[in-house]
Amino acid sequence: MQPQQHTASYYAASINKVTDYPQLKGHQTTDICIVGAGFSGISAGLHLSELGYEVTIIEANKIGWGASGRAGGEIIGGFSGDDVLQKKYGSQDADLIWNMRWEGNEIIRNRVKQYAIDCDLKWGYLDVAIKKRHVDAINSWCEDLHNHNYPHETAVLTKDETADLIGTNKYIGSLLNMGNGHVHPLNLCIGEAKAAESLGALIHEQSPVIKIDKTSKPKIYTAHGSVSANTLLLAGNAYHQFDKKMRNFIIPVNSFVIATEPLTNDIIQKINPQDLAVCDPNYILEYFRLTGDKRLLFGTRLNYYGNDETYIKRELRKRMLRIYPYLNNVNIDYAWTGRIGVTINHVPQLGKLASNIYYSQGYSGHGVNMTHLAGKVMSEAISGSMQRLDLFNNIRPIAIPGTHLIQRPLLSLGVMLYKIRDLL
Ligand SMILES: Cc1cc2nc3c(=O)[nH]c(=O)nc-3n(C[C@H](O)[C@H](O)[C@H](O)COP(=O)(O)OP(=O)(O)OC[C@H]3O[C@@H](n4cnc5c(N)ncnc54)[C@H](O)[C@@H]3O)c2cc1C
Repeated sequence: MQPQQHTASYYAASINKVTDYPQLKGHQTTDICIVGAGFSGISAGLHLSELGYEVTIIEANKIGWGASGRAGGEIIGGFSGDDVLQKKYGSQDADLIWNMRWEGNEIIRNRVKQYAIDCDLKWGYLDVAIKKRHVDAINSWCEDLHNHNYPHETAVLTKDETADLIGTNKYIGSLLNMGNGHVHPLNLCIGEAKAAESLGALIHEQSPVIKIDKTSKPKIYTAHGSVSANTLLLAGNAYHQFDKKMRNFIIPVNSFVIATEPLTNDIIQKINPQDLAVCDPNYILEYFRLTGDKRLLFGTRLNYYGNDETYIKRELRKRMLRIYPYLNNVNIDYAWTGRIGVTINHVPQLGKLASNIYYSQGYSGHGVNMTHLAGKVMSEAISGSMQRLDLFNNIRPIAIPGTHLIQRPLLSLGVMLYKIRDLL
């Protein structure tokens, strides 16, 4: 496992600060050791540092190098598999689960303010509808929000109202939600790492963990050093290679994003004057938004495993033009891919491998807000309150042996099945 630099994304090209945390060398001891510096690891590290713990974060590559620093950046309320939790726990924990749907958004909102993180945070989001059943879902979702006294503006919009907001006739309606939004995810992750560092956390980049001793005082090893901790948190998600048991818990799936050149003011007024994030409800979903410097950032999933920039640009451009044909003459400046961790039952996996070894992963492509909640739930568990961790931990992960070996056929099958479901 050779340490790598950031992938050539729009985010890496517009990073506020190129981080340069030292490689781990020699032996250290710490209270909490976290493996992986994406949102899961950094969010937990910041919560734990705020609680006064001694925290050491070990990252194979760079802060935000994985899915976190490559994401569409859409801050979507709710979390994947929330319906499964709701069904399992019923009315007894209904309020607890409802509040968790939005807590990640509020953590991001508060942190950006508290630590003055410069990350193009914007509020405002449209769930767009393609079919009548999507409109029905939007209506019932909006009613649910009102019944729960959701504190942000929401409105169900008609086809014409939707077209007025985002300059396309492709959608037959939408739900406007001003409590969801979008962000430059890499700059957010780096800003949060800096906040954790300011509270005393030690961070090491370019330090892949190659071995773990799962003893009463767990110890991790890299090529040049080791860390012994009272508690270990594994937050490598779909990029986590070394723990065989955990590797079988999630299916790594590639997701793809392009960013155009900066758009003219005329085009911006036509396609997104209110700077909203937009996402469709399909399983093979399409999502788009403007960046801080007014490019259109467009993402989707493909039945493809590579990272060929020309191919990604061509395929995603075709899809983008179906929505915005008049962007035909606009250049695509960036194209990249990243790996998400999908779980079989779609429930995020927050749990324990041993009494002092925790893991947090598998947000099934819906992780910007959920990782922020997960970090808080992990910090609560580590500091002695298991109530919210148990909601997840009691739903045992469904393991598929050898998912990393059969990733391609599994992914092709998954994309095909999801495409069929989207057509229904
Ligand atoms: C292209 C793309 C678009 C997305 N868009 C959205 C979106 O718009 N909205 C949304 O909500 N979600 C989105 N997601 C999902 C979201 O980004 C993820 O759910 C979330 O970022 C996961 O964060 P994480 O910290 O768990 O994992 P990651 O960000 O993948 O971080 C894992 C880290 O662990 C490190 N690591 C792994 N193994 C080791 C090791 N052995 N030693 C040390 N370090 C190790 C990796 O280098 C990596 O930095 C998207 C994902 C992708 C890929």
